[in-house]
Amino acid sequence: MSGLIERYRQWLDLPDLAPVTLGEGHTPFILWDTWQGTRVWLKLEGCNPTGSFKDRGMTVAVSVARHAGARAVICASTGNTAASAAAYAGRAGLMAFVVVPKGQISVQKMLQAAAHGAQVLEVEGNFDVALDVVRHTADEHSEWLALVNSVNPWRLRGQETGAYEIVQALAGPPAALILPVGNAGNISAYFHGFRRVGRGIPRLFGIQALGADPMVQGAFIAKPQTVASAIRIGRPASAELAREAVAASDGFFTAVDDAAILAAQAQLAQGGVFVEPASAAAYAGALKLRAEQRLPAGDVALVLTGSGLKDTDTPLRWTSLNPVLTRPDSISATILNALQHA
Ligand SMILES: *Cc1c(COP(=O)(O)O)cnc(C)c1O
Repeated sequence: MSGLIERYRQWLDLPDLAPVTLGEGHTPFILWDTWQGTRVWLKLEGCNPTGSFKDRGMTVAVSVARHAGARAVICASTGNTAASAAAYAGRAGLMAFVVVPKGQISVQKMLQAAAHGAQVLEVEGNFDVALDVVRHTADEHSEWLALVNSVNPWRLRGQETGAYEIVQALAGPPAALILPVGNAGNISAYFHGFRRVGRGIPRLFGIQALGADPMVQGAFIAKPQTVASAIRIGRPASAELAREAVAASDGFFTAVDDAAILAAQAQLAQGGVFVEPASAAAYAGALKLRAEQRLPAGDVALVLTGSGLKDTDTPLRWTSLNPVLTRPDSISATILNALQHA
């Protein structure tokens, strides 16, 4: 199937360029459950080519960068942007430099970036430090080096397409959209996407992790902490855009703690949907809002931003890798025993 640029070219106001695509977008959108009058839908963004929604923005940002004559792309990343930038740069024939906070990103995400041929650079400090560095570096070398973080407006334009797909699937906007918030680009992109479609804007509920919740606190956080590394950000680059979007949609920000995030991850996984902790935060947020009776009736869509295979350490907090060594002639008895005790 074609990628996002071919499908939505007239919506994206792009120059006449050759798309750099890996067939991103058109991700599954499934009805998960019905809670009283609320239908809970999941948008499975982990099904994008590199395993996260970042591909929606990256196809556009890298296509524009190549068209403009860049030789290389650079980004700061908690992991998924790095993996996506590396993959699309590889596809485009560009070099990729990714700057990551030392010791803070999952092995799987680092491996993806390296496998796609990116140069991975570590800095001491957190994501916010890495973003400052790459902004500065990209400014210095703007003739040939393109910044592909979500401060690049083309990233957000590409990410709008998630909203287009949800409106199409439901034949109109949902009553509410729930998504995890880190650098706050995606929630801003969805807002503009719904606005561009022109069928109405859902209430936007932005979920942050307690300890990394500057949008809830109303103040930046110097040392953000949470198990959800993809949203471990203390100074969101799109804080202003996101605040306006949430206010204009009659939404709000709220935070969930690590225990709730891990419990939500387990519950989704045991229902067949394996997501990384940041994405599980959206589900933890939905559970919290249900308990507080703050979920609207009708359709509520959750954006599950990244695959569970992105970070295989965290699930070990609630499950184990202890296969039971079994003799072939006792498999049958073991199964029957398990059935009896189920
Ligand atoms: C990037 C990312 C987020 C946060 O998106 P922002 O646009 O930074 O708010 C959430 N979940 C996952 C899996 C991500 O990769």
